[in-house]
Amino acid sequence: MPDPTPAPLRSALTSGARCLVLSPHLDDAVLSCGALLRALAPRCEITVLTLFTEATDGPHSRAARSFLRQCAHPDAATLFRARRAEDRGVVETLGARPEHLGLTDALFRQRDVPAALSPVGRLLPELVHRYPTYRFDIARGRVSRGDRRLRADLAARIAVRATEADLLLCPLGIGRHVDHLVTRDLGLAWPGTVVWFSDFPYALEHAPDPAFVRRADLRPWSFDEGLDAKDALVRGYGTQVDALFPSGTIPRLAETYWAR
Ligand SMILES: [Zn+2]
Repeated sequence: MPDPTPAPLRSALTSGARCLVLSPHLDDAVLSCGALLRALAPRCEITVLTLFTEATDGPHSRAARSFLRQCAHPDAATLFRARRAEDRGVVETLGARPEHLGLTDALFRQRDVPAALSPVGRLLPELVHRYPTYRFDIARGRVSRGDRRLRADLAARIAVRATEADLLLCPLGIGRHVDHLVTRDLGLAWPGTVVWFSDFPYALEHAPDPAFVRRADLRPWSFDEGLDAKDALVRGYGTQVDALFPSGTIPRLAETYWAR
């Protein structure tokens, strides 16, 4: 027998609710929750708040240059402008309200370095970046101590919104990308109801962190309605879809939600 729908989602689906969806990057909320958000939209007031929506000017690290190449965009500023525009388009199509918080994506985040080091940073950009590589830094799942202030500022900016929403949706941080983990942890401090979502497409290849699931006392629930219509929404992220799904096919995976 399938698990019963978690109470906060059942209530939102049947009676409506004000939902705040935290998306680390400009695509994560729709990639992970597009089908559920479509089902919620007729009755709910939904805000998709994306946190890491900016890049910085070069010189970029190798990891960032490789990302720009994958997206076939040589310039980070124009790529991120295009990404913000496509996110606004997709989220509005869903009947939700897009909002961009304007923090810098981990790939482009720089350390506070003394001015004397900036010529070195031009020659060796890795030296001045918070996360110099993707594989050994960003995807390693260890948020840098240098991001502590960013986390504290972010927690304060999210906390003041607690009265605006009946339900908070947060990523579970599957795949352990540092920006996803930072976003995941905001749910722990939220005073109201929180439901976490499995991060797609990371969930195709990675498992949830059992320690976090235990600590937050979460149970999974899966939602598989409307996956065909979700495909079209995901394709709205034109700058990302080819890099994310090089075969051209978007795998159909039920969405998974984690509630207490
Ligand atoms: Zn992401």
